[in-house]
Amino acid sequence: MMKSKLYSFKKGIHPSYNKERTSGKPIELLHPKGDIVLPMVQHIGAPCTPLVKKGDRVLVGQLIGEANGFVSSPIHSTVSGTVKAVEDRLVPNGSKVLSVVIEDDGLREDDPSLSKKLDYRTMTNDEIIEVVKEAGLVGMGGAGFPTYIKLMPPKDKEISHVIINGAECEPYLTSDHRAMLEKTQQVIDGLKIILHLFPNAKGYIGVEDNKPDAIAKLEELTKNEDNIEICRLETKYPQGSEKHLIYALTNREVPSGGLPADVGCMVQNVDSAIAIWRALEMSRPIMRRIVTVSGDGVKNPGNYNVRLGTSYRELLEHAQWDPENTAKVISGGPMMGMALSSIDVPVLKGTAGILCFTKDTALIPEESNCIRCNKCIEVCPCVLMPTQLNLASQIRDDEMFIKYNGMDCMECGSCSFICPANRHLVQSIRTAKASVRAKQKDKK
Ligand code: SF4
Ligand code: SF4
Repeated sequence: MMKSKLYSFKKGIHPSYNKERTSGKPIELLHPKGDIVLPMVQHIGAPCTPLVKKGDRVLVGQLIGEANGFVSSPIHSTVSGTVKAVEDRLVPNGSKVLSVVIEDDGLREDDPSLSKKLDYRTMTNDEIIEVVKEAGLVGMGGAGFPTYIKLMPPKDKEISHVIINGAECEPYLTSDHRAMLEKTQQVIDGLKIILHLFPNAKGYIGVEDNKPDAIAKLEELTKNEDNIEICRLETKYPQGSEKHLIYALTNREVPSGGLPADVGCMVQNVDSAIAIWRALEMSRPIMRRIVTVSGDGVKNPGNYNVRLGTSYRELLEHAQWDPENTAKVISGGPMMGMALSSIDVPVLKGTAGILCFTKDTALIPEESNCIRCNKCIEVCPCVLMPTQLNLASQIRDDEMFIKYNGMDCMECGSCSFICPANRHLVQSIRTAKASVRAKQKDKK
């Protein structure tokens, strides 16, 4: 059979994907053993206000954190039990956030709101969007942007392409792969709900061609769907970046500082499509997610379906990590994830993976002088000059950094990856971006 067209973007890199340890492992349901910790910020925007206090009994799916402001997203209890504390707790990015700590009673008693019966086909767009908002859905790829806002593009922007991002280009991570394979119909039905909001749009599911089984299953289940196309993407990093995925599928370029809606596109990730389906068809707020636990530091890597608020430590213990030989634990993928200072942090809505590395793989090589090979420039998917950005960062020249469009850097790490001199380019660019942002904030 002739293979379908292969979509791609310009530049990028081909790191070792290391997905084989978990890509064949079915999603395993894990029940929490310890307390559930639910931070009141799991999204971009204003923190939630806790609605419960110490000693309160809570039910599965009960609203426990009320959203504040337009850009915010509510938090629901993921177990039934008793509130042990409402206090600051450590989260994966190293900060402390006001959190509701729940002692799980293991009874799984549902909140009455979960028995609501909805039919999105008879609902208005505003009613559907309100359900998505109340369900606490945020972009589950890590950025944490509230999904309902994405579903409300400016009225003058006509959406022609609704794209489900099944690229999963970060090495090691396979949670989206398994979800597309095991929850295929839910992904498709989630996309159909979004298409119901945008009747003039066509649906696309973009999947990197290193997941042929997921592509085959999606193609099989959409063969009678005229309005949905499965698109094979070249396996290349960072194919899953929103802007690069849009370019690959449509040849349209999202302008600097612009949004996908500016070029008629909307992108949602695989987990978000499933979560939209669960919110509208099952009346379930976001309470779970699939997390890949992998790396050479765990003996039992896998894809785990866990309740939000479960401790990273529990997942690592289940995956049989060896604390003695662990040099680094990363939340997310190795390219864009963050190294953890503690594993006693909870799984959040945006936790796609936990990677555990021994010192053999976690070693960061020493920097040496730039040999002016230009490789970093050749691979930068944002067409930037990492050498100049690095220089601007080192001499603390924010104007130079802005002049070289440093704020457009998506921090994909491709430049650092390719650099034969092991220059810590992305780290230095991150520092400069933080400096520019801090000064912009001071001016306000
Ligand atoms: S400069 Fe930024 S966008 Fe370009 S390769 Fe480096 S990290 Fe990626
Ligand atoms: S890849 Fe590294 S050595 Fe080559 S030009 Fe860029 S910073 Fe210099």
